[in-house]
Amino acid sequence: MKAIVIHAPGDLRVDQVAAPTPGPGEVQVQIGAGGICGSDLHYYHNGGFGDVRLKEPMILGHEIAGTVIDVGPGVSSVRPGDKVAVNPSLACGTCAYCQAGLQNHCTDMHFYGSAMRFPHVQGAFRELLVCKEAQAVAVPSHVSLDEAAFAEPFAVALHAVSRAAPLVGKTVLVTGSGPIGVLIVAAARLAGAGTIVVSDILDEPLAFATAMGADTVVNTGKQPDGLAGYESGKGTFDAVFEASGSGAAVIQALRVLRPRGALVCVGQGGQANLAMSAVVTREIELRGAFRFHTEFRTAVDFIAAGRVDLRKLLSAAMPADDAKAAFDLASDKSRSMKVQLRF
Ligand SMILES: [Zn+2]
Ligand SMILES: [Zn+2]
Repeated sequence: MKAIVIHAPGDLRVDQVAAPTPGPGEVQVQIGAGGICGSDLHYYHNGGFGDVRLKEPMILGHEIAGTVIDVGPGVSSVRPGDKVAVNPSLACGTCAYCQAGLQNHCTDMHFYGSAMRFPHVQGAFRELLVCKEAQAVAVPSHVSLDEAAFAEPFAVALHAVSRAAPLVGKTVLVTGSGPIGVLIVAAARLAGAGTIVVSDILDEPLAFATAMGADTVVNTGKQPDGLAGYESGKGTFDAVFEASGSGAAVIQALRVLRPRGALVCVGQGGQANLAMSAVVTREIELRGAFRFHTEFRTAVDFIAAGRVDLRKLLSAAMPADDAKAAFDLASDKSRSMKVQLRF
C-alpha cells in the first residue's frame, strides 16, 4: 500500500509499505481523507520543531477519516462499511497522568506521525491503517469523510477553549488565523463568547476567521498597531488564544489582556521575552493547551449534529500521489486554509 513518508527535511516520498491486518480489539480502516497539519509541515520543512526531531523515516499524518474494512475478534462498536474519524491519540490508560484524567500528558503516549518518541510513531497518511477499537469513532453516513477528518484539529480547538472556560459573554482575541486559529473561533462561538477579534498578518486567512464567526479581524501585517486600541483601560480581552506560534504575538497579548485575563498558548515553536511585570501587576493567567482527550468525541458529535460547518475551511483535496504539491500548497497561507490528501 501507499504511504506518505518524510525521510529528511524537504524529502517527502510516496513509498510502498506492507499493509497491516487487524488483531483482537483492532479495526482496519481504509483511509479516505487526511488533513495536512502544521506539525506535518514542520517535519516537511524543518525536520521537526523544538526538541522534537526526525531521527528515522516516518509516515506523516494524524487528521484522518475513513471506512472500516475489517475488524479483529472482540470488536463490537464498529463494523465493515462504517465511516469513522480516527483518533490519532492513544494514551496508555495506566500511567499517573492517565489515572488523573490528564491523558494528553500520558507518559507512554502513542500519537500518529509524531517523532516525540523513538522509534517514532508512524502516521496515518496511508491507504490502510489498523487502530484500536477505541480510536475508531463512528460518524453518521451523512457526514463526508473530508468533514470527519476535521475532528482532530477541531478537538485541539475545543481543548484550547476549555483551558479558558467559561467564555460565556467574554471578549476574546485569537492571534493567528491558521486552521487552529479559525477552529478556535468556531469553538469559542459554541462556548458562548461575546465578541471575537482575530489578528493575522495576511488578509486571506482572516476571511476564513470571519466565515467561522469572528466579529472583527485585524491585519497586523498591514497595520502593525492594529491592536493598540485594545490596550486602553488596562486591556480589553478576557482571553487571548495565541495560535500563530509567534513570540511577538505573546508579548502583544500581555498588553491587551484585562487583569486576570487568560493567555492560552496553542501555537508552538516561538520564543518570547516576557514582561513579567505585566503578568504580575495584571495577574495574567498564562496557560498552555496541548492536544486533547475527551474533546475528540465532542468534535465528532458537533460535526455530526451540524453544529459547525467546517467544510468551508477545505481549500483543496489532492490525490496522495501529489503529496509534495499538496504540502507545498498547504504551506502557502495566502492560497490555502486546510489541504487534505485523498487515498
Ligand atoms: Zn493536527
Ligand atoms: Zn498514560
